[in-house]
Amino acid sequence: MISPAEALALILDRVAPLAARGLALPEILGLAVAEDLRSAAQVPPFANSAMDGYAVRAADLTGATRAHPVRLQVLGDLAAGGVPKGAVGSGEALRIMTGAPLPEGADAVVPVEDTTRGGDWVELRKPTRRGIHIRLAGEDLQVGQLLVRAGQGLRPGDIGALAAAGLPTVNVHPRVRVAVLTTGDELVDVSEEPGPGRIRDANIHAVCAQVAACGAIPVPFPRVPDDRATLTRTLRMALEADVVLTTGGISVGDYDFMKDMLEALGAERVFWKVAQKPGGPLGFWMLGEKPIFGIPGNPVAAMLMVEEYVRPALRKQMGFAKLHRPVAEANLEGGWTGKAGDPRTTFLRVVARREAGGMHARLTGPQGSAILSSMLTANALAVIPGGVARVEPGDPVQLHLTEEAEDH
Ligand code: AMP
Ligand code: MG
Repeated sequence: MISPAEALALILDRVAPLAARGLALPEILGLAVAEDLRSAAQVPPFANSAMDGYAVRAADLTGATRAHPVRLQVLGDLAAGGVPKGAVGSGEALRIMTGAPLPEGADAVVPVEDTTRGGDWVELRKPTRRGIHIRLAGEDLQVGQLLVRAGQGLRPGDIGALAAAGLPTVNVHPRVRVAVLTTGDELVDVSEEPGPGRIRDANIHAVCAQVAACGAIPVPFPRVPDDRATLTRTLRMALEADVVLTTGGISVGDYDFMKDMLEALGAERVFWKVAQKPGGPLGFWMLGEKPIFGIPGNPVAAMLMVEEYVRPALRKQMGFAKLHRPVAEANLEGGWTGKAGDPRTTFLRVVARREAGGMHARLTGPQGSAILSSMLTANALAVIPGGVARVEPGDPVQLHLTEEAEDH
């Protein structure tokens, strides 16, 4: 058996980012960029008004007071999208709207609220300063300025900046398509009333949701009974996807023939079994360039495996620079008692919260690998290293914060 860290290293060593392609802005939310993105334009492209008001020469208003306003002649109106017809001279003003280009000669904009209009003149009651309420050309973005670094996931704000900066398509890594297979004669669809000895297939929904939450595309397959021929047939179809994820049939039971079937198809075993609880019998294979994860069937174990091993692998394939969840240290309220001498790492589902004195975590309840209710309120995993049989109440433990995104 290998340690969780060794397992993760072996997986990440074998998976590579999918080839990048140019995609248009409406298609790139959440994807990682394949190269540094730089502005192709200056933003704003021209000096313009930041207010609805009057474009003036500041020098004209030097002596303006409430008692003795300065009266300027209004040359006309300029809306956003318009072009000034001429310059603003001394004693003149141009009515200007937010976003309209600043006319030659003007060096300040007086907000309309500070003015009194009458016919073709406007009165201004106080002095102004040069440059006020003017947005300068390029004050936001310069040509060539770095916008988004390679490996960063694109958020709505990034996409807005790319649009303003004149980048209609960008090179991004595509979403990974992940075939998800659940196996077991006992499984029925969630909409069915399970007959004697049967249970509902939780994994297909849980695992597909996890895959989607990573930004990848889950491709759910019809449930596979514990039957060699059907399993092989379904695996062959699943291998059309970029990654194959199977749950169940990976342990040492009489019907656990996932390993044999994968290897009969030519898959190379990278490892089987990780020294951890829940979820020991994780297997990882490569078939050519294609990663295949064989995950145990117990639902909590399955989800932990996806969280700890599959998610970083999918993120690497999708080109993200950051693969892992943020970590933190927390006091484990109530402590924990394990099995003395157990060399396996234990992953506990906890509710973590930040307080003034630091982070605190408490167990979500019973921690068995089939106890799905332990996932309901969890927002973090506490990682207890192998060999540690006891955590005293209030002792520090390491957390993987499963609800906090990495820095995109
Ligand atoms: P296995 O890994 O196939 O030996 O299954 C281990 C345990 O997980 C058994 O109790 C199975 O009934 C259960 N199990 C397997 N697959 C699923 C699934 N898709 N949904 C819910 N429970 C499952
Ligand atoms: Mg099974």
